This record gives sequence, structure tokens and C-alpha cells, in this order.
Amino acid sequence: MTTMMNFAEMPDANGFFGDYGGQLVPPHLKQAMDDIAEAYEQIVQRQDFQDELKHLFQDYVGRPSPIFHAKRLSEQLGGAQIHLKREDLNHTGAHKINHCLGEALLAKFMGKTKVIAETGAGQHGVALATACALVGIPCEIHMGQVDIEKEHPNVTKMRILGCKLVPVTFGQATLKEAVDSAFVEYLKDPTNYLYAIGSVVGPHPFPKMVRDFQSIVGREAREQFQTRHGKLPDYVAACVGGGSNAMGIFSAFLPDAAVKLVGVEPAGEGVDQPGKHAATLSVGKPGAIHGMKCYVLENADGSPAAVHSIASGLDYPGVGPQHSYLKDLGRVDYQAVDDKACLHAFMTLSRVEGIIPALESAHAVAWAMGIAPQLDKGVNILVNLSGRGDKDADYVAKKLGL
Ligand SMILES: *Cc1c(COP(=O)(O)O)cnc(C)c1O
Repeated sequence: MTTMMNFAEMPDANGFFGDYGGQLVPPHLKQAMDDIAEAYEQIVQRQDFQDELKHLFQDYVGRPSPIFHAKRLSEQLGGAQIHLKREDLNHTGAHKINHCLGEALLAKFMGKTKVIAETGAGQHGVALATACALVGIPCEIHMGQVDIEKEHPNVTKMRILGCKLVPVTFGQATLKEAVDSAFVEYLKDPTNYLYAIGSVVGPHPFPKMVRDFQSIVGREAREQFQTRHGKLPDYVAACVGGGSNAMGIFSAFLPDAAVKLVGVEPAGEGVDQPGKHAATLSVGKPGAIHGMKCYVLENADGSPAAVHSIASGLDYPGVGPQHSYLKDLGRVDYQAVDDKACLHAFMTLSRVEGIIPALESAHAVAWAMGIAPQLDKGVNILVNLSGRGDKDADYVAKKLGL
């Protein structure tokens, strides 16, 4: 980087991070997005909004989440020190509650009568249904019939939490159709409904809003680390699906040029195997998907490529526009970790530290475990442990014959 960028001022008024982002949507949807952007800019400045969000982060989510020094793991690896930002300890077990509370509260302040979203594996659905139950706004989640049958615990939780679950049966009956179905419902009354996107993706203002709500993770982590060690970490690493937990922790460290930032993508069964990975930034190219310009994985005909990861929360053929921009800028280094290394990290962290990580988060742990032995003992790596692995325990046990 040649010049000091003012990352806090991004995106620009049209929602661009450099060449990426924007609002690639039809005019009626653009008006709805502009209305949300305008309302957000006003509401986010209100003291009553900030006070309520702060109170919920503290007393409901359990913030601040601690940073844990994984001493035994670090000793075993014989190199750099690995530290974990414990987003797995949040209420509902992951970072997603941070932006879902923000979105639900925004809906309340905007006077919306319903919050709508799609969900794939059900993680976003559960976090949003939780936030809406708390805030007291009706919530409607669209989910593919195929996913409904696969993700039983999350479906049950959503029903208990009182959201309206809409099964989507057309096409492949998975995430893509769920998005289409949720949008049809949203467009029936965008004035009274709010569409709640689950990561730093989609048309402006969602990449910005979700980043802002997640930035609490980075602000806490930077201060906690500085207070304890008298300096900043040498590396900050996080897994990247759409990129919300990574943007959350990176945002506070972007101006610290000496802090190396590493985004870890899912290499699945290998980045050289089309359809068997979701390493969008590592092997994709600039394009467009879901109303934004960003790196994408595409087929030869320009349609979104099939993707795979052992971590269902990471298999997305696009990625947040800010990550796309940070890649081109060279400020963040994007690496890919495969299913096998992820599983190994999942088991190692469980057995050496007594922490069962989400398979998504295990990608970032695996990257740290790979580089730590090559580094000096005085080097510090801070990993965002985005969620806990309760949801993955049965799957892993079955896969490994435990
Ligand atoms: C959903 C999820 C992710 C992926 O989402 P990002 O927007 O890339 O952060 C990562 N970790 C966990 C635990 C998740 O539930």
C-alpha cells in the first residue's frame, strides 16, 4: 500500500468499495435499498439506538467476548502463540447474533411490521428468529425443502422461536430458490417489510450495515489485546464465506499497517477441482452476484458455479465487496484451507483445548496451525473463533467413526 486509506469512510455514497459493491438491482428494488440506506444513516446516529444496541450486546449476547490464549495448542505446535477471540461464547453460539440484533433493532426503529430472510443451513435463520423474538417483530424465514430435511435442529429451533418458516419447493429447493422466494415476499411491501441479509453481501447498504454491526468484534479485540500485551497481534485471521465475521474483526486493524490480516476461504476438496470448493477470492474473478459487484466463481456461461465446503456456512460463490477490494489492494492476504485440514483442526482444538469449534471457524484455526510452527515463539496470531461446533458434532463424529 502506498497511501494511507481511510477505510472508515468506505463505502462511498453509492455503496462502492473501489470497484466493488454498488446496487445492481431493478429500479423498484433500488428505491427500497436507498430508503433503507437513508434511514440507517439517521438511526445509527441516534443515542437511543446506540444505547439499546450496547445494552443488548452486553446483557443479552454476553459481550465483550474474551480472548483466550491457546497455550497448549501453541506449545504443541512449537512456534507462534495462537489466541482465540471467543465469538463461540455468544448467545446462540456465533458472531451472527451481532448483525441480526442490529438488523432487528433497525427494523423496529424504522417501524417495519415484518422481517424477512432466507436461510441455507439455518444458522442465519436461527440468529434472526432469536433477535426478532427479543425485539418483538414478526419474522419470516424462507428455506429450501431439501435444507429443511437436512437441518433438523435449526428448523426446530426456528419453530420454537416463533418465526414463520416458509418451505420452498421449486427448482433445486435449496438456498438459491429460498433467496428468490424471500425476495418475492419482500417486494410485496418493501415499505413495511425489511429484508435482513446474513453477511456483508448483497446491494448497498447491506455490506456496510452488516460490517458496522460486526465491527464491535474488532474494536473489542484490538483493545483487549493491546491492554494485555502492550502491543497489537502480528496476525489476525478469520474464515471467509460471505465475509461478515472477518470484516468484523479486520475493520479495527485495517489502519494498523504492521498487523497482517489473513482471510481463510474453504478449499473443499481442492481449489483445482471446479464445483468442489468455494475459494472465491483465491481462484474466482471480478463479476456480479446478488445485487453487488464482487469476486465470483462462475461457469463458462457466466452462471454462478456450484460450490462445496465441509462447512455449509462458507459455501457461497460470491464474497463481500469490501473483501474483493482489500484483496486487490493487497491489504488482506486470502488463503484457502481444505476440508481435511479443517477436520484436523476441529479435532485438535477439541482435544487440546476443550473447545469444539464450528467447522467454519476451524478453517481459520487450521490456517494458524499451519503457519505457527514456521514462526518464532514471540509472534502472536489472533484467530476469530466465529462460532461453536455443537451444530457440527454429530456430522463429524459420523464422518470419523467416533
Ligand atoms: C455463517 C457462519 C460463517 C460464515 O459467514 P461470514 O459472513 O463469512 O462470517 C462463519 N462462521 C460461523 C460460525 C457461521 O455460522
